[in-house]
Amino acid sequence: MPEGPEIRRAADRVAAAIEGKTATELFFAFEQLKHFEKELSGRRVKQVTSRGKAMLTRFEGDLTVYTHNQLYGRWYVMRSGRLPRTRRQLRFAVTAGDRRALLYSASEIDVLDAEAERRHPFLRRLGPDVLSQAPGVDDLASRLDEKRFRGRQLGALLLDQGFVAGLGNYLRAEILFEAGIHPRRKAAECSGGERRRLAGRIIAVTKRTYRTRGVTLPPSRVAGLKAAGARRPDYRFWVYGRSNAACRVCAQALKVVGIGGRKCYWCPSCQPREGSERNRKV
Ligand SMILES: [Zn+2]
Repeated sequence: MPEGPEIRRAADRVAAAIEGKTATELFFAFEQLKHFEKELSGRRVKQVTSRGKAMLTRFEGDLTVYTHNQLYGRWYVMRSGRLPRTRRQLRFAVTAGDRRALLYSASEIDVLDAEAERRHPFLRRLGPDVLSQAPGVDDLASRLDEKRFRGRQLGALLLDQGFVAGLGNYLRAEILFEAGIHPRRKAAECSGGERRRLAGRIIAVTKRTYRTRGVTLPPSRVAGLKAAGARRPDYRFWVYGRSNAACRVCAQALKVVGIGGRKCYWCPSCQPREGSERNRKV
């Protein structure tokens, strides 16, 4: 499933195509939404943004199209009148000016007014989104210390969209590695300094991944690896998908463990089970 940075980039592409323009033609595949084709036509697209793994297309008059890509959804941006070559099923489309944005295969689509957006079962329980709401280190550090979050294993907590929206399987592993924190530790077992460090890495790694189109390894490291002939799969991650490979910091063999129902990759030396300030190497 795409994670927050990928959805945010899709939102950027759609925004560049239709934001600020008047929608001239809409398409909804689902019968119960058909009447919005007329209702939204002629309204200006105020904003296209993301919340975690969902996207919000806001129209003038306070109606918002909520879409969640799930596993298969995919956005295309085309010149108006054109259709992409795909065998996927078109579920939602907006034409505005000389561009059109089309969403294929997604099954979760709804049109919400402000009140429905507040009550929406998915949106309502989302934690802060690093890319669209810009929470600070203090916000996330104190969130880690909240009663409902502090007793949970961090490897599982970071996948919970109710804690922070938009983190998924690769980001959680990369964030915990940069923070030097073992995925089975809990926020309650971490020092205040470790919680702040983790909060800082949640923000920094997510933003970096957004800027680099999915590469979590810092650009300085990537440059060295590229110069040595490495290809994208070999310079993309610190630990994700690299079990048994050598840690990029300490050269120990990386490990994988199932947490939150999915594989979590980590370094036994850089992320000790008992926290240690001096083990911070990244
Ligand atoms: Zn290591």
